[in-house]
Amino acid sequence: TETTERRFESNPTVCPFCGVGCSIEYAGRGSATGVEGPVNDRGEICPKGAAAFDVVDHDDRLTEPLVRHNGRFVTAPWEEALDRVASGIGDVVDEHGPDAVQFFASSNCTNEENYVLQKLARVLGTNNVDNCARLCHASTVAAMSERFGAGAMTNTLDDLGEADCIFVNGANPAEQHPVAFRSYVLPAVRDGATLVHVDPRANDTTEAADVHLPLRPGTDIQLLNAIAAVLTEEGLVDEAFLAERTTGFDRLREHLADVDVAASAEAAGVDPGVIREAARAYGGADRAAIVTGMGTSQHRCGTDNVHALLNLALLTGNIGRPGTGVNPLRGQNNVQGASDVGGLPSVLPGYEPVTDAAARERVAAEWGVEPPAEPGLTEVEATHRFGDEVRAAVVFGENPAVTEPDATAVASAFDELDFCVVIDLFETRTAAHADVVLPGSAWAEKSGTVTNTDRRVMRMRPNADLPGNARRDFEILAGLGRRLTDRPDAFDYEGPEAAFDELTRVAPIYEGMSYEGIGDGYQRWPFSERDGTGTEVLHADTFATGERTAPLAVVDPVPPVDDLDADELTLTTGRVLQHFNSGALSRRSDRLMAMRGEDALRVHPSDAAERGIEDGDRVTVSNERGSVEVAAEVTPAVREGVAFCTFHYAEPLANALTGGTLDPAAKIPEFKHSAVAVEPAPEG
Ligand code: SF4
Repeated sequence: TETTERRFESNPTVCPFCGVGCSIEYAGRGSATGVEGPVNDRGEICPKGAAAFDVVDHDDRLTEPLVRHNGRFVTAPWEEALDRVASGIGDVVDEHGPDAVQFFASSNCTNEENYVLQKLARVLGTNNVDNCARLCHASTVAAMSERFGAGAMTNTLDDLGEADCIFVNGANPAEQHPVAFRSYVLPAVRDGATLVHVDPRANDTTEAADVHLPLRPGTDIQLLNAIAAVLTEEGLVDEAFLAERTTGFDRLREHLADVDVAASAEAAGVDPGVIREAARAYGGADRAAIVTGMGTSQHRCGTDNVHALLNLALLTGNIGRPGTGVNPLRGQNNVQGASDVGGLPSVLPGYEPVTDAAARERVAAEWGVEPPAEPGLTEVEATHRFGDEVRAAVVFGENPAVTEPDATAVASAFDELDFCVVIDLFETRTAAHADVVLPGSAWAEKSGTVTNTDRRVMRMRPNADLPGNARRDFEILAGLGRRLTDRPDAFDYEGPEAAFDELTRVAPIYEGMSYEGIGDGYQRWPFSERDGTGTEVLHADTFATGERTAPLAVVDPVPPVDDLDADELTLTTGRVLQHFNSGALSRRSDRLMAMRGEDALRVHPSDAAERGIEDGDRVTVSNERGSVEVAAEVTPAVREGVAFCTFHYAEPLANALTGGTLDPAAKIPEFKHSAVAVEPAPEG
């Protein structure tokens, strides 16, 4: 392959590494610098943002299409590779129908690209399209949509600075959303706001907290019900709000009267006095905001966990006002947008249910084809059916062979498909199982928009040209739409802006937005020009359901799937400051690897001593699903009985150990509770 010097230029765009959405640009020699933007108004960035260009110019980048011949990948011209995709997908559709194809949208790519991908699936005739929101906040979205009518942050990042109490449940914003934490949460804490942190592991967020509840993984409902019980028992509820804006209080009050705070505290493994302290801080504040993350959502009862959390906000009237609300922090830079634009199997762009005939007709008026009325398969449901009812996959910028639970089985399942095409920057663990791999574009090589965690739609602009024969993702996807469907005209876009304009006509929450209106700033959904840049605080007078009231929910504890033997620990997985999701991007950054090159299993000193493990020793972590070897980090930061590692590494592959049982409502897996045996690794 002929290599040519890459061209880079400085052009303000959005950091690819988390849902905060800091503005950055190229600063020479592989570096990014922060520029003043809508979220980072002083140009602040974190170490990941500073290293964002490392991946763009990496030697591992795919620069030519790869096509499998006789079991091996060979480079091929684009036409040959695209012909192979057309025949591979076409054959499956002809023989088994369009529902035999699963589409993986990308939470790390633009709104326009994801819009075109889901349109491709639906014009082909299937709703089988999902994105990795399924693996992080599907349960949050399910519960919040049911109760409030919208599954996104009710308030904004800057609005957290208005709170008198910030209740962080199962999130670690100091490391995962660092600029938001430093810019909005820490200043509020310095001004006297109380920070409550619920997390089995003490981390950088805990450092700043006034109250820490290191709960046993899988006991969120016991803990949150106990807090709700204290709120009712001690008169910390907002009677006027309950009367005007909620239903079902009498039933919930009866249920909470039976909650024994001391017994719940024991089940959760926390001090009952600290539960009362947290309840008083939250219930006694004028304005109290909840921040929630994957510690809440990634359980077989993730939706119920969130229901229990929403009760706290409704009981105390902390919704619909500045400085309050329930605020899920999104992980990837466009997980919000990939979902907003319809990269989900049960909703069309703008969260209109596929079962809604009027919504389908509105889409059909624009596309010329009506989408199917039956919800499609979620991501994990689909991989469980590979080789059976699902025969082909189109994987766009995702790496399920690392990120899905029971990942070793998932990787093998890809081999059961008749055909798989992956569009990515690198030959990922998933791509290794594909028939065709198409070299796509990195974040810094594309135009479009992304939607950050607080519903702000912002522009991405190119800072680099493409390497070799890689192509822009938008062109690849629109081209596949022209080749794979019988409506090539529906994919005849002049560019991303034309797709965005179409999106604003199809998705009501984006109606009225435009590239020109977004400019160097943002437009926030639900958008209305009357409100300037969009609606900051949701549910002020009515909930997004259209109702004045939201229901309170009675929630009973649900035990985790894995029972623990006496000598086992609970493995819980999460993230660290220096890395990003499957690590396919961040592990290719020398500077991030210099900061944290290897994973480690964090174990409590007493659990380590019981097993003869010392800090730095190699240990084997195993269960019925798999076995991995990793270094031990002996630390009191994790509670006794719990082991923590990240899911950023293909080696050791944490998700080889996690299970595929799904939350019944949201189909999110139970990543946060897996029984494992931990023992010294055999020598040599
Ligand atoms: Fe990027 Fe998030 Fe860091 Fe901002 S906080 S620089 S968006 S990783």
